[in-house]
Amino acid sequence: MKRRAFLGSTFAAAAVAALPTRPLQAVFREAPLFPADLDAITGDGRQITIPGSDISELAARLHGRVLLAGDEGYDVARLIRNPSFDKHPALVIQPSGAADVQTAVDFAAEYSLLTAVKCGGHSHSGKSTCDMGLQIDLSLMRGARIDPATRRARVEGGSLLGSLDHEAMAHGLVTPMGTVSHTGVGGLVLGGGFGRLARRYGLAVDNLVSLDIVTADGELRHVSAESNPDLFWGLRGGGGNFGIVTSFEFDLHPMDRTVIGGPIMFPYSKARDLLTMYGEYGHEAPDELQLDYFQAFPPGGADWLAGFAVCYSGPESGADAALAPLQKMGTPIVDGLRAMDYVALQRSGDVDDPRAMGSYMKGGFVPEVPADLAIAISSGMQAHPERSTQLFFQQSGGAINRVRESAMAFPNRRVFGNMMTSVDWPMGADPATHIASCRAYWATLEPFTEGFYTNDQDPELSKVQVDSNWGGNHDRLVTLKDRYDPTNLFRLNANVEPSV
Ligand SMILES: Cc1cc2nc3c(=O)[nH]c(=O)nc-3n(C[C@H](O)[C@H](O)[C@H](O)COP(=O)(O)OP(=O)(O)OC[C@H]3O[C@@H](n4cnc5c(N)ncnc54)[C@H](O)[C@@H]3O)c2cc1C
Repeated sequence: MKRRAFLGSTFAAAAVAALPTRPLQAVFREAPLFPADLDAITGDGRQITIPGSDISELAARLHGRVLLAGDEGYDVARLIRNPSFDKHPALVIQPSGAADVQTAVDFAAEYSLLTAVKCGGHSHSGKSTCDMGLQIDLSLMRGARIDPATRRARVEGGSLLGSLDHEAMAHGLVTPMGTVSHTGVGGLVLGGGFGRLARRYGLAVDNLVSLDIVTADGELRHVSAESNPDLFWGLRGGGGNFGIVTSFEFDLHPMDRTVIGGPIMFPYSKARDLLTMYGEYGHEAPDELQLDYFQAFPPGGADWLAGFAVCYSGPESGADAALAPLQKMGTPIVDGLRAMDYVALQRSGDVDDPRAMGSYMKGGFVPEVPADLAIAISSGMQAHPERSTQLFFQQSGGAINRVRESAMAFPNRRVFGNMMTSVDWPMGADPATHIASCRAYWATLEPFTEGFYTNDQDPELSKVQVDSNWGGNHDRLVTLKDRYDPTNLFRLNANVEPSV
C-alpha cells in the first residue's frame, strides 16, 4: 500500500461506482461525484481539510466502512460507554480486518490525523473517541477461536471479554479477563487486565502469547517472545501506544465452570471492621479467592452497604476455609454467595444500556490497607440523594505479584489492590456538585496510593505523574515509541511521548 495513493489520485473518481452499499452513498446523492471536503484536526491541533475525493478513495479501498456525521451507525460508533464524552470525529473507519486497519493507519498518517482507537469503548478518560479527528472503531472485528488441543485462544482486536469467556468455557478452559463482559479485550489487555482469576492465573497480559499489530508505519507485524520481542515487551502493559492490535493469542487453563461467587453485604456500620479484616486476610488468602471490597451508597436514600464481591474458583474442599473470615463478620444484609456458573458471574455486572449513565472516577493502587486508610474510606464518603456513589477495590496479589516489574511494560506489581471511587448519574442530570464531592473524598484517600492503573488514567494528571507511573520501565517504552511511533500518531492513550 502506497500512502501517496491517497493524494491527488484519479482512481478516486472510478472508485465511486464501487460504493453503492456503503453509508457514504447518502453523501453521493447530494454530491454526485465525491463527498464534500471534510474539516478535520491533526494530532498536534492543526485544522486541515481532507478532499472529498480522498474520502471516496478511502471508502473504495476498504472492505469495512467509512462513516461521516449523519450516516447510520455514526452516533453508535462515536459514543463510548461513558456518554459524558460526547465527541464528534470528522470520520469513523470501521475496518473488517487487518488489511483495512493498515489502510486506516496509512490514511491517518498521511494527514497526521488526531486518531482514536475504539474496541469496547470503556475508556475512563474518553480517549477512544475524539472531536474532529479520525476514530478507528474495531467493532466489526470480534471473531473468537478456541483451540482446545493446544489450549490457545485467538480473538480479533475489537473483541469483547464476554465472547472469549463464553467460547473458552465451552471447552472447560479460561483465560483471566476483567469483570464486566462488555469491556473490550483491546483496551483491557494492553493495559494489564485485572479480574476474578488474576490472583490465580496472573493478569490478562501475563497470559498473552502473541499479537498481530499494525504499527504507525502501516506494517502488519506478528509479535511474540520470538518475533519482535522488544514490541512484545512493550505491548504487555504499554496500552495503545504502538499501533492497532488486530489479533490477540492467549494461553488457556482448564477450570471447573462452577465457582462460588456473588456479593456479601453488611450494614455500613461494619465498614471499618471489614476493611481491617480485608487488609490482613487479603495478603494471606489463597490465590483462588478474589475478594473485591466495595461500599455503595445507592440513590434515593436507601441503606448504605459495605461488603465484598467474591469469586472462589478453587476446589470445593477448600471453600469453607477460604471463606471463613467472611463468615466471622456477623450477619450479612445481603448474602448472594452461591455456587454459580463462571460465565454467568462474569456477566453479572453488565448493564443493559451501557450508554445510559455518565460516570466519573478516581483511582490508584494501594500497597496495603492501614488503619488510617480504613478510617478515611469509611468516614469520608458522602451520599447523594439521587445519584449512585461507590468505593471499590480490585484485589491484586497472588500470581500477579510473582512477575518481575521489568518483565514487561506493566509496572504496578507490588500492590495490594486498585482502589477506586466513582459516581454515576443518569444522562441529563447535572453531575457538577457530586463530581466535586468525589474529588474531595479522593483527596483524603490519594495520599495512601502509590501509582495508578494506566487503564484508569485520570485525564487531570500531569505528564510528570503519568511518566513516573511507568517506574523503571519508562525509558525502555520511550525507545520503543521512537522506533514504532516517532510522530506519536497513537497519542490518545496513557501516552508515552517519543523523544525524537
Ligand atoms: C464498567 C467497567 C468495568 C471495568 N472492569 C475492569 C476490570 O475488571 N479489570 C480491568 O483491568 N479493567 C477494568 N476496566 C477498565 C478497562 O480495562 C479500561 O477501561 C479499558 O481501557 C477498556 O478497554 P476497551 O477496549 O473497552 O476500551 P476502549 O475505550 O475501546 O479503548 C481504550 C483504549 O485502549 C486502546 N485500544 C483498544 N483496543 C485497541 C487495539 N485493538 N489496539 C490498540 N489499542 C487499543 C486505545 O488506546 C483506546 O483509547 C473497566 C472499565 C469499565 C468502564
